[in-house]
Amino acid sequence: MGRLEDSQKQGHFSSGLNKNFEDKSQGSPKGSGEDSARTGRGRRWRGRRRHGKNSKGRSALNGPTIAKIPVPGGVESLPAVDGAATLVDSHAHIDAADYDGDRRKVLERALSQGVGIIIAVGSGLSSSRKSVDIANTFDGVFAAVGVHPHEVKSIAKKSVAPIKVLSENPKVVAIGEVGLDYHYRHSSQKLQKYWFREQIRLAVKVGKPVIVHCREADEDVHQILEEERVWRVGGVVHCFTGDAGVARKFLKLDLHLGASGPITFEKSGELREVFADIPLERLLVETDSPYLTPPPNRGKRNEPANTFQVAQKLAEIKGIGLEEVARTTTANVRRLFKIGPPPQTGKIAYSLAGKLYLNITNQCSNSCFFCGLLSDRVHRGYDLTLEAEPDAASILGAAGDPGDYDEVIFSGFGEPTLRIDELKEVAAELRRKGAKRIRLATNGLGSRVNNRNILPELRGLIDVISVSLQAESADSYDKVCKTKDIENPYSSVKDFIREAKAAFSEVEVTAVDMSGIIDIEACEKVARDELGVPFRRRTFTLTD
Ligand code: SF4
Repeated sequence: MGRLEDSQKQGHFSSGLNKNFEDKSQGSPKGSGEDSARTGRGRRWRGRRRHGKNSKGRSALNGPTIAKIPVPGGVESLPAVDGAATLVDSHAHIDAADYDGDRRKVLERALSQGVGIIIAVGSGLSSSRKSVDIANTFDGVFAAVGVHPHEVKSIAKKSVAPIKVLSENPKVVAIGEVGLDYHYRHSSQKLQKYWFREQIRLAVKVGKPVIVHCREADEDVHQILEEERVWRVGGVVHCFTGDAGVARKFLKLDLHLGASGPITFEKSGELREVFADIPLERLLVETDSPYLTPPPNRGKRNEPANTFQVAQKLAEIKGIGLEEVARTTTANVRRLFKIGPPPQTGKIAYSLAGKLYLNITNQCSNSCFFCGLLSDRVHRGYDLTLEAEPDAASILGAAGDPGDYDEVIFSGFGEPTLRIDELKEVAAELRRKGAKRIRLATNGLGSRVNNRNILPELRGLIDVISVSLQAESADSYDKVCKTKDIENPYSSVKDFIREAKAAFSEVEVTAVDMSGIIDIEACEKVARDELGVPFRRRTFTLTD
């Protein structure tokens, strides 16, 4: 689609990639690998596979071009991805001895599949040291250091001091993998819990997020993460395979969840349903290499290139494009680990799931406390901070051909009706140029901020109006939305909905589901019973 092609041409991801897997040592990373063979996982990745580019020599991830770049002082060249969205393998044990013979080739294959960044995750002290060595050897590799629950018995009488020393390396972006594993119990539960806490405390001390392993220990992992207030540093529950209830509990702790090989397995239908409901903004993709190889190579050694297959399956589960998965999960990595390509700045128009979103203002009449965009305006890899309020011509220029999209939506960071004149002008032109359907997503305060009933002016321009009700009562609205300079905003929003219902055939009311903060059932009752319009409950995203 038009927007996607534009973003590729701009080459937003290219600068960091050209040297991603540049080998600074020209040699194999050092390390004993003594704890790289993780106990209890089996050795089913032992086989070898051929994995390469498609028949055109281009990755299927929007066809990154492969170019040769020189290694300073070296005799070899490495492939580089030029100007394409990148994927991040957020969890790979590339320190494993399995890669000692061909680690460079494994990294090259990853790059050829659009996997521009890899987080090498340690599972013990020597594994962590080796992961740091590898990260210091290849630009596109970063490291996490920590002791896996299987291995904590080896540090029973020691301290976290060696991990702390390793964590100070600039290529170390997280503490992990740490957690609890009650399946194999290679270390006692007591020891596992003790070291899990100790390592979370270390993460807080050094200000780096945690990478969490959780197997058959959901309740204890959740309890410890909550008691240790993990949200101070954030983190990811990697290789998530729990149910929807467990996912919700971790999301409430502000954690991310890792999608890996299991979502690709034939018998994982229930897990795919869970992932369908997890907001993309909270997902990372990973391989957990050398484990959990996607089909058709299950049982053989996994490798970071297969992040591509995980991302592809996630796109299928979500019903969106692979580019959107890559852009969003990579932005999530950037937010969590502070690495990766910068977001595309100042986006006036952006495309998600076949719809075109128009972000036409930086301003909003509310300051909803849940609106993450008040502090971080990056949405799905698009930075919605506008340098200036765009005029109608700029908005139309950014929008391109509206006929390319199923729907055009005035949404974005701010409240579009604050720019009512531009909104009308753009909508009229988009209509003339063949827009199939135009929707206004609004907080319902447009008539108040413009000091007139704006709805008659929008007839014939807008097809659908979505109004965020946000609360079940005036008191609750004031607390949640913190409206600026408008008296009785809640009753104004309800008046707007009534008037919209009278003037438009399609009106819906939405509210963000925030249990314990608003009464979502009561919101639905207000919408359906009092106002007589359909209601949609949503998680907070700008796609609504
Ligand atoms: S109305 Fe929407 S954009 Fe404005 S602060 Fe609230 S959630 Fe954010």
